[in-house]
Amino acid sequence: MAHPKHRTSKQRRNKRRTHIKATPATLASCSNCGATAKYHTVCPECGYYRGKLAIEKEVTA
Ligand SMILES: [Zn+2]
Repeated sequence: MAHPKHRTSKQRRNKRRTHIKATPATLASCSNCGATAKYHTVCPECGYYRGKLAIEKEVTA
């Protein structure tokens, strides 16, 4: 397996991360129920994905 030859110093690692900007995931609205869900993710409300029922909604009794 590929293996790093040298340990990255704290200074080098922190400098590398200075220009990384954390952005929240873009939210999509479900085409079936209109709830907001993450892109490429099954809707947590109704279980639909791209207009089709992907997973049956779990019945919480
Ligand atoms: Zn939905």
